[in-house]
Amino acid sequence: MGFVRWIQILTVRKHEDWKEILQRSPSVLELRCLEDAFTSKTPKNVLVQFKCLRALYIDAHGDIIRRDSGQFAYRDLFKVLPPSLLRLEIAHAHGPDLRVIQTVREHCPNLVVLRLGRCSMFNRIPPCPFWREYPLDHDAYIAAIGTDDFAHSVAQELVPMHSLKALRIGVYFMHSNAVLAHRAYHVRGVPAPDGVDWQQALSVVQNIPVPQPPARLDQNLLVDFYHQDAEPDFGPDSCTFCHDSFEPSRGAEARANRIIKRLLPGLQIMEWMDWFSPSHRGVSQHPIEDLVVPASNAPP
Ligand SMILES: [Zn+2]
Ligand SMILES: [Zn+2]
Repeated sequence: MGFVRWIQILTVRKHEDWKEILQRSPSVLELRCLEDAFTSKTPKNVLVQFKCLRALYIDAHGDIIRRDSGQFAYRDLFKVLPPSLLRLEIAHAHGPDLRVIQTVREHCPNLVVLRLGRCSMFNRIPPCPFWREYPLDHDAYIAAIGTDDFAHSVAQELVPMHSLKALRIGVYFMHSNAVLAHRAYHVRGVPAPDGVDWQQALSVVQNIPVPQPPARLDQNLLVDFYHQDAEPDFGPDSCTFCHDSFEPSRGAEARANRIIKRLLPGLQIMEWMDWFSPSHRGVSQHPIEDLVVPASNAPP
């Protein structure tokens, strides 16, 4: 029994592991692919050879390549998935969720659980080369504006996924400047000014005057400020200033849940990333099995 179990759940640590693991592919029910599992040499259809695969975890941190120009470009780690798949978890992705959703929609009609996680300043310490290059783009996954539209666009893409019961989207419904506000001002016992920018915030942290344009602070200071292992005990009551955003943040999640539930009535659990959690790495989970939503032409 133990032996059978051993070949049913396998971990792919590096590209070279595929050759041996593929020999056992008919017996594999669950596969864990770590960051170095997919290289440019890995066939994009390698996963479809696992005909009985039920659960798949992919650390997608390798979904970017640096071009000769120095710029980063996204790359697909896979283009096909086995139709037997019931559970898919993507972690540490930089690329858009849409690419994964499209592949899932096309190949995995029976998928029950979908978790889409991103590489963020909270889970990548020290920072990776991507966030060293684009430290001003963290609002891709932490934002309080446009959340209804975002939820609607995600749900629309998933409408054909009739078996889907649990969905996690790796975004925070929190102000994009929450990290600046909290770490530069709140921890010093003062509220952050409206529209705080990073030059202003880091001047407070460094206790220096705000540089006058065209002078600017070194962007690497911001990178290091963002990617620090902080506040393992953080929660809704840890900061009175952040707490003012707690209800609005939960309210945005609840609105998004209703929008999604309307388009995906079979969904039972919805999860978003949660600023108000230890090290800001937790999820805000909502059981929505019994959520009653108004007709599709009514406001959310
Ligand atoms: Zn990264
Ligand atoms: Zn705060």
